[in-house]
Amino acid sequence: MKDILNYIDGRFVPASSGRWLDNIEPATGKVYSRLPDSGAVDVDAAYVAAQAAWPAWKNVSVDERSRLLAAVADRIALANDELAVAESRDTGKPVSLAKSVDIPRAAHNFRFFAHAITQWASESHGMGPVAINYTLRDPLGVVGCISPWNLPLYLFSWKVAPALAAGNCVVAKPSEITPMTACLLARICADAGLPPGVLNVVHGTGADCGAAIVAHPGIKAISFTGGTKTGETIARTAAPMFKKLSLELGGKNPTVIFADCDFDRTLDEVLRASFSNQGQICLCGSRIYVERPIYERFRDAFVGRTQALAVGDPSDPATRQGAVVSRQHQQKVLSYIQLAREEGGTVLAGGEAAAVPGRCAGGYFVQPTVFEGLPADCRTNQEEIFGPVVTLAPFDTAEEVLRLANGTGYGLAASVWTGNLALAHRVAAALEFGIVWINCWLLRDLRTPFGGVKQSGVGREGGVEALRFFTDAKNVCVKL
Ligand code: NDP
Repeated sequence: MKDILNYIDGRFVPASSGRWLDNIEPATGKVYSRLPDSGAVDVDAAYVAAQAAWPAWKNVSVDERSRLLAAVADRIALANDELAVAESRDTGKPVSLAKSVDIPRAAHNFRFFAHAITQWASESHGMGPVAINYTLRDPLGVVGCISPWNLPLYLFSWKVAPALAAGNCVVAKPSEITPMTACLLARICADAGLPPGVLNVVHGTGADCGAAIVAHPGIKAISFTGGTKTGETIARTAAPMFKKLSLELGGKNPTVIFADCDFDRTLDEVLRASFSNQGQICLCGSRIYVERPIYERFRDAFVGRTQALAVGDPSDPATRQGAVVSRQHQQKVLSYIQLAREEGGTVLAGGEAAAVPGRCAGGYFVQPTVFEGLPADCRTNQEEIFGPVVTLAPFDTAEEVLRLANGTGYGLAASVWTGNLALAHRVAAALEFGIVWINCWLLRDLRTPFGGVKQSGVGREGGVEALRFFTDAKNVCVKL
């Protein structure tokens, strides 16, 4: 069994309490490693190390910070296969997905911010002959990064890379369910030459370790990705301390398909948008609205393609659907499938736990599942399931589908599929979501603002938005 360790002040250490948590492989249901069950004492040790490292780190030249982050990116890319296997084992996701998406994108995050920081400039506002203003953007100090289990290294690096690039020191916590690649990243950062204390990784539960990061009075900002309820809890703790907060929360995303779409391409991409990573991506489209003239054709083709998705051992390169992340999450997804039945939905595909024989007989698998016949306001269509479950419904007009699409408390991402560009722009403008994809899904340019509205979060990450979040602006006004 491999022990995962905290990384504090450049050293790999267990929790100060000596307590451990089991780390379970979701594809088998078996414990395969353990992680420190850290709490406030460990978080404070990480903070002290980070605070001590900060004066030197914030004065490291931009070129040197950029070089170090690029060195981390290079090492992630070199270790792609090893990291992908670790990520697949920790999460249950197909190793093919981890190899082609999760790990390359984690390397890309570090490379992007290594470059971005060299190109970043702040504003100057001239007042003619009277005065000139210029804005300084100072790093905040020690910041907290808390990430979820669905895209562990990808989302961990999405926070840590801009925080470091902007000159902050970091106390970071990955999900206790998927801690492995954050531990491997700590080793990579050490090997790349990141000074001790600049990045600290503390493992443990959300209730103890995560809450201690949020509550720590010295930690100046929290960048959090996770569930909406957890986001509420974090906001309640952080608000009286006036901490900066970036909250990337849940979604219940609509997929809007017009009759004039490129049918085959839409079918391919909507299948991916529905079931990638077993539907456990905050951006997955789980409410699929199809214009009535092609509803039946699309439904039948989509159901056929869903039934053909290979559910299996995530380590098998042929597998397209792996395990969901935990027994608890499997039970949650299955309970929503039961609820959808009770709400009057018809199961067109899936609808059960999936059995994968052999090594994975004890794993947490769910068949990719498609429902139709559910009203827009039922719980299945309103609440985030975060699993391989989608609903299909027809619509007749753009106005109707906009009402349906906007009719939830969430507002993270939407996709629209049509050959009519004027319609696409009109619909995109009226969708109440932070991200709208037209004729594509999860096509990412890291310079663009990323985040949601309504219950999907507060603030934006990505590009200069992230660099702004991780700095404070100071205006200097000079009378001429
Ligand atoms: P959680 O909110 O349960 O957990 C997210 C992280 O917060 C984990 O590291 C967790 O630790 C930690 N945590 C839990 N409770 C607290 C607390 N009280 N204080 C501080 N930290 C805490 O989310 P999940 O891990 O279940 O992730 C799934 C959710 O994330 C979904 O709702 C999904 O939509 C959302 N998400 C949003 C994205 C976006 O960009 N908007 C992207 C990806 C996911 P631990 O796991 O150890 O309990």
